[in-house]
Amino acid sequence: MDKQNNNTENINMTGVAGDYAEYPDCGDVASKIYEFLDGELTEDKRKAIQFHLDHCAPCVSVFEFESDLRKLVSCRCQEKVPDTLKQRIAAVISMEEQTTKLFYERTNVESEENG
Ligand SMILES: [Zn+2]
Repeated sequence: MDKQNNNTENINMTGVAGDYAEYPDCGDVASKIYEFLDGELTEDKRKAIQFHLDHCAPCVSVFEFESDLRKLVSCRCQEKVPDTLKQRIAAVISMEEQTTKLFYERTNVESEENG
């Protein structure tokens, strides 16, 4: 009987994927970030994502980056891009590239050790 209870818990864990309105995870926030920025979400979802952003530093960086990117795109229409904004975005992009590189290097080392 105990084993059956465990199985039920596992099913519940995967079954709540669509129920992000109350507890969005990082993937939900990332997938909804444009709608959030555009104000296209319902108030409940917007609040839920805002709540997540208040407590999740990595998602805040993503949110700020996307927000800045939008400013950059809208600025380009006027041919006026502030140098500080360009530098900041370039810095974030190079930082992410380094992080990705480190991640892959680490993954490769681990797979070599396993093999
Ligand atoms: Zn997050």
